[in-house]
Amino acid sequence: MSDQNAASGCGRRSFMKGALAIAAAPAFALNGFRGDAEAAAVRMLPKQWDEEADIVIVGSGFAGLSAAAEAASRGSSIMIIEKMPIYGGNSRINGGGYNAWTDMLKLRETLKRGEDSADLHYQDTLKGGDYYNMPELVRILVDNAPVALDWMLKEGDLKLKNVIIRIGGHSAYRDHVTLDGTGRGYVDALKKIAERNGVKKIRLRTKLTWIWRKDPASPVLGIEVDTPRGTRNIRVKKALVLTSGGFSRDLQMRKMFNPNISDAYNSTNQPGATGEVIRYAQAIGADVLQLCFIQLYPTADPDSGTLDKYALYPSRMPSYGGIFVDYKGKRFVSELERRDVVSRAEINSGGKRAFTVFTDKMIPNVTTPEEVQNGIAAGRVWKASTLADLARQMGVPATALEETIARHNQFLKEGKDPQFNKPFTPQMQAIGEGPYYSVAQWPSVHHCMGGLRINPQAQVIDIWGQPIPRLYAAGEVTGGVHGSNRLGANASPDAIVFGRIAGANAAREKE
Ligand SMILES: Cc1cc2nc3c(=O)[nH]c(=O)nc-3n(C[C@H](O)[C@H](O)[C@H](O)COP(=O)(O)OP(=O)(O)OC[C@H]3O[C@@H](n4cnc5c(N)ncnc54)[C@H](O)[C@@H]3O)c2cc1C
Repeated sequence: MSDQNAASGCGRRSFMKGALAIAAAPAFALNGFRGDAEAAAVRMLPKQWDEEADIVIVGSGFAGLSAAAEAASRGSSIMIIEKMPIYGGNSRINGGGYNAWTDMLKLRETLKRGEDSADLHYQDTLKGGDYYNMPELVRILVDNAPVALDWMLKEGDLKLKNVIIRIGGHSAYRDHVTLDGTGRGYVDALKKIAERNGVKKIRLRTKLTWIWRKDPASPVLGIEVDTPRGTRNIRVKKALVLTSGGFSRDLQMRKMFNPNISDAYNSTNQPGATGEVIRYAQAIGADVLQLCFIQLYPTADPDSGTLDKYALYPSRMPSYGGIFVDYKGKRFVSELERRDVVSRAEINSGGKRAFTVFTDKMIPNVTTPEEVQNGIAAGRVWKASTLADLARQMGVPATALEETIARHNQFLKEGKDPQFNKPFTPQMQAIGEGPYYSVAQWPSVHHCMGGLRINPQAQVIDIWGQPIPRLYAAGEVTGGVHGSNRLGANASPDAIVFGRIAGANAAREKE
């Protein structure tokens, strides 16, 4: 680089030999972490930029694609980087659930699933998070969840199943489900909108390895990435948007912040769900909150820990009458309880797996007979014409299972659950005639409620409480929306609503 540039600081950088040259000023880092600490102390700003974009987005899940779609619609040039060989992150393998208290199709109203409102969704979310949530962020979530859903329906050709579910911890039927029952439906819709707005491609196998900022008052200047062709430095002209997801697969971080979430548990997440981006952001002054709040999904496949289609039945069948039993064939919790409560009850049951029991009549409210049939063929779902035969397949005592179901049917008839105080709804059916079905379930590490601190504009806040100039974040990499415990199907709208806000505000930054 030229002497002039070396002396002038970042304000006078200029293009050199097709690349962007900047000053050799030291980059500042507040609190590097693990092996990064030493590097942070000595790292110098790169001598030149290899590339530049108005807005660089780290991560290609719901939050990243939403941010890209919004920013591109405002005329900004967008670069999305993704460290994995495929795009979509956890969003792609998500169960397709999305809470919105209404929608343009009026599904809840048409299916006559009772009342709901933004205020009720707000109250449920705060209560479900034990009031650790930032109320201003929750308000934005619930008010904008239907708007974002309609946006995907209208502009992204999103298709939904004709069902509405009530999941544990919610007091209304508000969970919408994609036609294919996975997050792929939303990912495809968001990608379609982003591409239509001018986003060209997602750079796969491109991993953020540092964030460049000159000093505690400076804006974010750019990032360092690791690519199959080596290390590159990318100048950020308007803003950097961090949408890198949670750290459920980061054993060291998990154990550091919540030793209880040890490696004894599997994880439902994709392998790229690690927390290095949080650490890089911390190293340039970003504040974090509530990193110890890490959620166990109570009903993953006990063998693999994955959340396949069948692992969603335990979270969806109870709203239509399905029940949970433990290895003794007994109920052990209210089936409409929050995930943390169900997980804890399963662990405390003393067994190694628990089960959901449901019947033929419940299936159309949740999924299709064909999908259940596939589950049977895959060995994930058991089917029997008698409860005794079902119990035999599950490996639980038949008499106990029969008694449990008879007792629960009686509770349902009387409209009161003296055992676990489950709130019965008119949509719940008794487990009457067969055929009967069951699926096994067990906790697996699922969601990180804590993360980077943001404000309602999705700006990342520093440890002194000020926004870091030109730095935004959205989705599971952030903390504060869900409090101590995320309610099922609230993460999809969280990532999409705040991704849109981050993208729109990033695009408003001046070069
Ligand atoms: C199996 C499963 C099922 C779920 N089902 C539901 C559901 O039905 N409803 C619901 O509301 N929520 C559900 N969730 C939660 C929800 O899917 C996630 O919280 C949400 O998808 C997070 O979106 P995101 O955009 O923040 O992150 P992600 O979709 O995880 O995307 C982040 C991306 O960033 C990439 N990345 C990370 N670090 C770097 C780096 N250093 N450089 C470059 N790229 C990086 C990751 O590889 C990843 O692709 C589910 C989660 C899982 C795992």
